[in-house]
Amino acid sequence: MNPNHLVEVIPGLYQIRLQVPIRSLGYVYAYFVRSNEDNLLIDTGWPSKDTFFELETSLAEIGVSLRQIRTVVISHLHPDHFGVAEQIKDLAPNSKLVIHRADAALILDDYDEYKGFVSELHVWLSEHGTPPEELQAMLDASTEMLNYFRPPKPTTIVSGGEILRVGDKWNFEIIPTPGHTIGTICLYERMSKVLFSGDHVLPTITPNVSLGPYYKGDPLGDYLESLDRVNELDVDLVLPSHEFVFSNLKKRVIEIKRHHDERLNDAMSVLEKGSDYGPMSGYQVASKLKWHSGEWGALGAWERRAAVMETLAHLEYLKRNRKIAEVREIKNGKPQIKYALIL
Ligand SMILES: [Zn+2]
Repeated sequence: MNPNHLVEVIPGLYQIRLQVPIRSLGYVYAYFVRSNEDNLLIDTGWPSKDTFFELETSLAEIGVSLRQIRTVVISHLHPDHFGVAEQIKDLAPNSKLVIHRADAALILDDYDEYKGFVSELHVWLSEHGTPPEELQAMLDASTEMLNYFRPPKPTTIVSGGEILRVGDKWNFEIIPTPGHTIGTICLYERMSKVLFSGDHVLPTITPNVSLGPYYKGDPLGDYLESLDRVNELDVDLVLPSHEFVFSNLKKRVIEIKRHHDERLNDAMSVLEKGSDYGPMSGYQVASKLKWHSGEWGALGAWERRAAVMETLAHLEYLKRNRKIAEVREIKNGKPQIKYALIL
């Protein structure tokens, strides 16, 4: 196997590269902290046999078996992070599985719960202007995903602020950083000035921040506040879940904030240009914005759904900051939510 799958970043702390069968992601990093009786794994990769094998063989290179893992922390409830958590627990039945309270509340345990979730999403996307023919394709994309899932069953629920002690050397503080998901956490080690940033802060790309039926409220507002929260920490090394390890956290925080400012301005100018035709739905605004994955017409169902939800997070933020107003209409007996500029 490729020896670069496992890299010792600092003594006792390893990065493990795991393949993800989604082209846009490519791979995800898990991190392993070695401390004999206390071994810690942060994230577990995509739910697949290949991931399990990659983890197993990578750790075997340093003489560690998955049975020797004491704690698994899931940075947030996305499949490329919680992937094989349950399979690891099968091997190490006394290990802890740590997830934030807000994400743990969203774990879907069975197919009925999943169906309920999908139909709620269906209604919600429709209210926000998604044409019926596209809705079906978006929902089919969700059903395909389901086949891979084995929902994680956390043994330890955290709220943020707790310290996870690993051996004598490491004390990882759990930093709540909602935004990418409502229960995203980062881990901070004060002595070594290391931040495990998960998907919260990545070196060149920005995580999806989405409004949806399972993240109501103000996801973008939360995300920007969470950037401030990590920005206050004294950090030398940022260990993200994608791309590469980097060090200048403060510079990156400024860049990400600028990116969201630009997206907010873009959404405002779409509403301004479209104002001749009346208020616009989240779907309509999304279809007029630029997306780095391509032109609107070329985006697949999965990407379009992500784009609509991301746009709505920005519209919700603008609404809360009194730049735009929400307009509710009834069309063919069904509620429709639209947005208009406030002058
Ligand atoms: Zn994620």
